[in-house]
Amino acid sequence: MTKTEQYIAEVEEVSAHNYHPLPVVISKAEGIWVTDVEGRRYIDMLSAYSAVNQGHRHPKIIRALKDQADRLTLTSRAFHNDQMGPFIRKLVKLTRYDKALLMNTGAEAVETAIKAARRWGYNKKNVPADKAKIIVCDGNFHGRTTTIVGFSTDPDCRTGFGPFTPGFEIIPYNDANALEGAIDANTVAFLVEPVQGEAGVFVPSEGYLKKCAEICRKHNVLLICDEIQTGFGRTGRMFCSDWEGVRPDIITMGKALGGGVYPVSGIVADNEIMMAAFEPGNHGSTFGGNPLACAVASAALDVIVDEHLPERAAELGEFFRGELKKIAHKRVKEIRGKGLLTGLELHETARPFSLELMNRGILAKDTHGTTIRFAPPLVITKEELAGAVKTIAEVIGK
Ligand SMILES: *Cc1c(COP(=O)(O)O)cnc(C)c1O
Repeated sequence: MTKTEQYIAEVEEVSAHNYHPLPVVISKAEGIWVTDVEGRRYIDMLSAYSAVNQGHRHPKIIRALKDQADRLTLTSRAFHNDQMGPFIRKLVKLTRYDKALLMNTGAEAVETAIKAARRWGYNKKNVPADKAKIIVCDGNFHGRTTTIVGFSTDPDCRTGFGPFTPGFEIIPYNDANALEGAIDANTVAFLVEPVQGEAGVFVPSEGYLKKCAEICRKHNVLLICDEIQTGFGRTGRMFCSDWEGVRPDIITMGKALGGGVYPVSGIVADNEIMMAAFEPGNHGSTFGGNPLACAVASAALDVIVDEHLPERAAELGEFFRGELKKIAHKRVKEIRGKGLLTGLELHETARPFSLELMNRGILAKDTHGTTIRFAPPLVITKEELAGAVKTIAEVIGK
């Protein structure tokens, strides 16, 4: 057995089988590169689903982690720590909201947004008790909690996990009229991904999000944009909603907020929502807002801003898709994306191609059968992308 086979056999034996990874065992990484236990190098074109936008082990983020680990890691929110305030100040200045509430994982950020919207609805919109409705989209991915998978339309995510939380209505994605039709007096929020990542990189029509924002405003419904995957530069703007000049009432964020080093998530919103929703004791998390997380996330934000990662993603994404389109092989059904989030949809099952890309040094994961998602760290260079396109062309065209 190779080392790779040994590690995989162990995981098969002792871990729950809740994933179907590519058969590669990674032990080291730096920037866009990862190295497996056999010493083979690969370009990471998944970036842990956009959690590693800054590149693996960015020196500034690792420095912040080590320095903070030497001082203080956890206090719980029972006491204050000297990292949370300065970090949140930086976050709300960057995003231009009044306040943030910090959690750890993306799903927790979404749960926090759901709670905020419901409380706002009862306290500010006079929705009768337990009647709040939140509208969500077909093909959504917002995480894995029982409430969240309850409004998923993906049978893999939800089958067998009921009974589910009531209060959600599903409408088609990319259909603003459907949103207006679904809103009633008890609707408190519309929860939407500006680009659906997990569904296979679905980019809605231009103007969709703007139209949704107008409809929400008109009916006094909160617009919650889930930017956990699309945020922090991935799509070529700091947030994907910036593309349409939309300012959501709540943004959920996670993934790259932790710089690929530490799980950090949260929501931002203005006082009208935050103050109506939260009071001491009604929400929280043991690790949420911990000093290690705040120190890491603070450095992670600095890297995004200082290295102009959104601008890089905008430019390189155009280049990448332009080059991919030249492949023009009959196997390719569609190439779509925004910034450095790209889906390449085939007319056939994508997994054999992900495997062949892996054999040639490119890690990308197939999603939903026929689509391969390419989302390299935003620090990738044009030359490195051009090299990757060459390999992709060889694999697809073979
Ligand atoms: C990844 C993701 C989540 C869930 O984040 P976790 O950290 O895995 O809980 C939620 N929403 C979107 C859009 C995501 O891509």
